[in-house]
Amino acid sequence: MALSPPPKLWYLPNHRDALQAHMHFLHELGNAKTEANYHVYYQTLIKDGTANGATSNAYLTSSNVSFKTKCISMKYRTGTLYNQKHAVLFKLSTTQTCPLCPQVDSALHILPGCQHTQIRNMITERHNIACRMILKAIGKTGSLGSCIVSMDIGSNKRMTMQSLQIPETAESRIVPKWLFPPRFSDKDRLTSSRPDFVLVTPIAANTQNNKLM
Ligand SMILES: [Zn+2]
Repeated sequence: MALSPPPKLWYLPNHRDALQAHMHFLHELGNAKTEANYHVYYQTLIKDGTANGATSNAYLTSSNVSFKTKCISMKYRTGTLYNQKHAVLFKLSTTQTCPLCPQVDSALHILPGCQHTQIRNMITERHNIACRMILKAIGKTGSLGSCIVSMDIGSNKRMTMQSLQIPETAESRIVPKWLFPPRFSDKDRLTSSRPDFVLVTPIAANTQNNKLM
């Protein structure tokens, strides 16, 4: 049997529009819809300065993030993370309700919204793990670790599991009274939702610089 000749290889002039045109011509892939909502939302975030492109996309090249996690993140960003809405669209189900709780399912519901007890605990723990990674990074900058005056990012046991020591200045989860205006009532202070961290940087000559995270 005669073997078919190997495909002829050629160089593309570049890996951007030339590759895009080639992929779309042969495979109908590569032409992103630039008028769709997702594209418009992300463009707006970059243009108005709300998001920092380099920081927001750093996970894609990070060796600390698994390939699977990168894929899930991209699916979330592009609206292709499978949920009950897709199941109904693909005629695999007749209900958009979350399989675990009574709310409507969606990508946003999966990430921070599901009301199932176990999932809620997982969502809280994921948030706290991210906060503890930020705390670790702040600690590495040197003296800033001792500028944290309060924090609420999970139990001491969990902190130890991530090899973190609680800064002596941040042993209380309650935001200190001195950070509030004098007439702010104790009741409001103790019952208001607490920030993950409060970091107060030292007063430099003639300038005062306080930051809340
Ligand atoms: Zn749910």
